[in-house]
Amino acid sequence: MNTTVATVTPGPRAGSLEQLQIDNGFAGLPDEFFTRLAPTPLPAPYLVAASAAAAQLIGLDPQEFKRDAFIQAFTGNNLLPGSVPLSAVYSGHQFGVWAGQLGDGRAILLGETPARISEPPGRLELQLKGAGLTPYSRMGDGRAVLRSSIREFLCSEAMAALGIPTSRALCVTGSDHMIMREMPETTAVATRMAPSFVRFGSFEHWYYSGRHDNLRALADHVIDRCYPELRDAPQPYQALLAEVTRRTARLVAQWQAVGFMHGVLNTDNMSILGITLDYGPFGFMEAFDAHHICNHSDSQGRYAYDMQPRIAHWNCYALGQAMLPLIGEADDVHAALAVFQPEYDATFDTLLHGKLGLATREPDDASLFDALFTILQDSHADFTLFFRRLGALRVDDPSHDEPVRDLFIDRAAFDAWALQYRSRLRREASQDDTRRQQMNRVNPKYVLRNYLAQAAIEKAQKKDFSEVAHLLAVLEHPFDEQAGNEAYAALPPDWAAHLEVSCSS
Ligand code: AMP
Ligand code: MG
Repeated sequence: MNTTVATVTPGPRAGSLEQLQIDNGFAGLPDEFFTRLAPTPLPAPYLVAASAAAAQLIGLDPQEFKRDAFIQAFTGNNLLPGSVPLSAVYSGHQFGVWAGQLGDGRAILLGETPARISEPPGRLELQLKGAGLTPYSRMGDGRAVLRSSIREFLCSEAMAALGIPTSRALCVTGSDHMIMREMPETTAVATRMAPSFVRFGSFEHWYYSGRHDNLRALADHVIDRCYPELRDAPQPYQALLAEVTRRTARLVAQWQAVGFMHGVLNTDNMSILGITLDYGPFGFMEAFDAHHICNHSDSQGRYAYDMQPRIAHWNCYALGQAMLPLIGEADDVHAALAVFQPEYDATFDTLLHGKLGLATREPDDASLFDALFTILQDSHADFTLFFRRLGALRVDDPSHDEPVRDLFIDRAAFDAWALQYRSRLRREASQDDTRRQQMNRVNPKYVLRNYLAQAAIEKAQKKDFSEVAHLLAVLEHPFDEQAGNEAYAALPPDWAAHLEVSCSS
């Protein structure tokens, strides 16, 4: 008697790399939008860091990080099935000047995959940054160094944990292949994820080349995929500009409230989704200085902390100019752009009320806020620690003031402001414990200070990636008190005073 044993070939394991469904909707745009090309392989890649939270968004099991297939795929050495790798063209204004054609000089879009995100398109695009030369590399080498890749990775995930819209970072892989910057450095590839990587500069590209057909195709693509609710608006293109302007204003208000400085707010780094994009010489405010410039290459201070709202608005104007052929009337463009200031003001005002633990509004609050920024500026008090420690203030008991008061060179100035703040809290019968809990939910204890990133980078450059992983774990819970991680909330050490972050990446 013959017995046949049915052999069941197991399908791909749930959450495995093989289960990722990839296709590329962007590739459906006309050919002039991009160049199809494969990433350039890197020798002997290794995993530097990976984000389990990011992986979970696309249904990928973090166990996969250990597999060579994962490392090869996200270095660009093996293509995942369904990928249609391409680099997109765009243009932009850099430091206020029209720069003409730029494009993905070192980024390759693999495609998109279904994702657990609440907003359309319910998918995330996967992009390799530093994956080799493209037709848009200009003078560059198509690569990214380990240092800047770790910074982008950590900050993307840190911003997400802070609740600030951002592109995500799945992982960083490294290779011993050397490239030249100020000195020779090793190469890395960062895998980024976003619903779309379309930039203001993508629109400017078709406007300035007179290709209004492509301008329309791009706007339709963005509306269809990311803003489907605008499809039926009376003037969809005007509605798109207004919504992008609104989101951008809200985003910058969130940056200001947490002390984040982007560093290179060129129009080619502005996302059409209003998310933080293209992390380069960014920084978090430490010793408060409203005019602080985090990018060492920005000698004029165009992108200083206090300039960000104005510059973001200016960038929206650049987008509005580019969309004029679609919208038709300059007045309609202006009407859409007029959304910026009220949206920014209202968002920042709400965030500041939250940061100070104020539940109500009073007409005079603006002067309380102004007085606060004046004393922060005069004493160069640490921005993050100030708000965090302020949460411990007790309305009727100044004996708890020391930790926050100690941040000020001019203690008397703090005392004078605290008097005003206390009477304001009394007027709304603020409860100390409740207020403290609420403030701790919006004022982070842990942000990606440059010196923390630097320490992790220096270890990683010696092939010890443990500090990158540890720092990621700390930054994933920025609002929590984390026993044993107090040092990560400390003021920068003396050596950090000389840290300079430039456009070199
Ligand atoms: P960024 O200021 O980093 O946003 O870059 C501006 C432009 O330069 C973009 O088009 C980038 O793709 C391109 N770029 C930056 N670094 C490189 C590089 N190493 N190789 C090729 N292109 C680059
Ligand atoms: Mg860029």
